[in-house]
Amino acid sequence: MHREISESLSQFSQVASYYLTELNKKPVAQLNAELPQTSLSQLAVGNDNALKTLEQQVIPQLSASAGSRYWGFVTGGANPAALFADWLVSTFDQNVSKGGDSVATEVEHQTLSWLKELFYLPDTFDGLITTGATSSNILAAIAARQFAGQAQQINVAQQGMGALSVEIFSTCPHASMVKALGLAGFGQNSVTYIDKKQNTELINLASLEQALVRSSCKSKIVLASAATVTTTSFDDLVSIAELCNKHNAWLHVDAAFGIFERCLNGPEGLTKGIELADSITVDFHKWLNVPYDAGGFFTRHLDLVAQSCEVAAPYLINNSDRKDFLAIGIENSRRFRALPIWYTIHSYGRKGINQWVSKNIECTKLLAKWIEQHPDLTLAFEPNLNVCGFYLTSQPRKTKQLLDEINRIGKVFLSPGQWQGQFIIRAALSNWQTEFADLDIAKSSIDQAIKNIAE
Ligand SMILES: *Cc1c(COP(=O)(O)O)cnc(C)c1O
Repeated sequence: MHREISESLSQFSQVASYYLTELNKKPVAQLNAELPQTSLSQLAVGNDNALKTLEQQVIPQLSASAGSRYWGFVTGGANPAALFADWLVSTFDQNVSKGGDSVATEVEHQTLSWLKELFYLPDTFDGLITTGATSSNILAAIAARQFAGQAQQINVAQQGMGALSVEIFSTCPHASMVKALGLAGFGQNSVTYIDKKQNTELINLASLEQALVRSSCKSKIVLASAATVTTTSFDDLVSIAELCNKHNAWLHVDAAFGIFERCLNGPEGLTKGIELADSITVDFHKWLNVPYDAGGFFTRHLDLVAQSCEVAAPYLINNSDRKDFLAIGIENSRRFRALPIWYTIHSYGRKGINQWVSKNIECTKLLAKWIEQHPDLTLAFEPNLNVCGFYLTSQPRKTKQLLDEINRIGKVFLSPGQWQGQFIIRAALSNWQTEFADLDIAKSSIDQAIKNIAE
């Protein structure tokens, strides 16, 4: 082996194990990170000096997002099996764009088939590993676009969508879905918002039905959630699928992290009916705890995705009857993202994954109970999964200040949310190693922050 490679591997092992050992001692977030200016002409300093700069300027200013008390947004860590496999992904450096020269494509197919079992999805679904839920939502928008065109004798991938007559219905689409609608050419403002079922983030079924009946557009698309990011609400997918069926509407379900409720509780739980969707978005860098970035896209109409993603080129000849991944995804060249997922499922199986999923849910319930009994805090809603929200009871307007103070203290990282017009603090627990001891640290840190802002 080349000497530089063997040296960098042993350095890597030292840097990585030191980082992970120290992770839970460092502040969870770096709110004012900055880098000194360095111009290119000062560089070419060699590996040892580059490592020094990394250790001085970068590593101390990273967030501990891989650790057990980063509860902002919906953030997963890196489980040991996935971390090991992900390191090897860079070592192997495969380009998983098309088959024919490596087993890597087979590994991705096997991963997808295990995932379908894990999530109790029928074999009629097909899909691919993506860079995350955002790109999965883009693929959903592209597939739905093609579906709409098909009914109107327009091949949107070829002709564009100028002449397309389509209406999109949703209630609480994730921001990335809105972004995806813009990128797919529908426009970010193309959503017809259906009102919420009272005191929830759920699609009001009667209103959806009315809107579908009233729509004068030739094609219809419905975007549902399993689960929403604020209150982790699951739409009534069985009823929505029935309406979509009746009105020939495409049903897309964003289940970025909610799909793990299905892994835990099976097909009759909160995701019941997701198997009736036309397309499904899931994330793996959240609750599966594989490193960034990795998501998944499943659809029963992969041919519609291929109509947009497959482009002929003389160097891209496919001898198999299975579509190459580059013909069903956004990127042509693709990282071996499937491997950390493959390795995680291989090592831990449903049982191991469910262990951290149910532990996160249990910890969230305990945190909610503590908030409920807290003299200064109000629990915004009863948590049904891994997210809980709260605000300051007597001075709700100071809740933002409380959030900033909690994050400044740096023992736990939380992020903001909106619930019924009220600014709330959100805690989302999705790290594989979060323990009861982390809850205690978080509670005393929240108490400290309440004291600090009262002074
Ligand atoms: C996180 C999330 C997304 C966006 O996912 P990325 O992984 O950030 O691309 C989309 N939908 C839902 C419901 C999410 O929770």
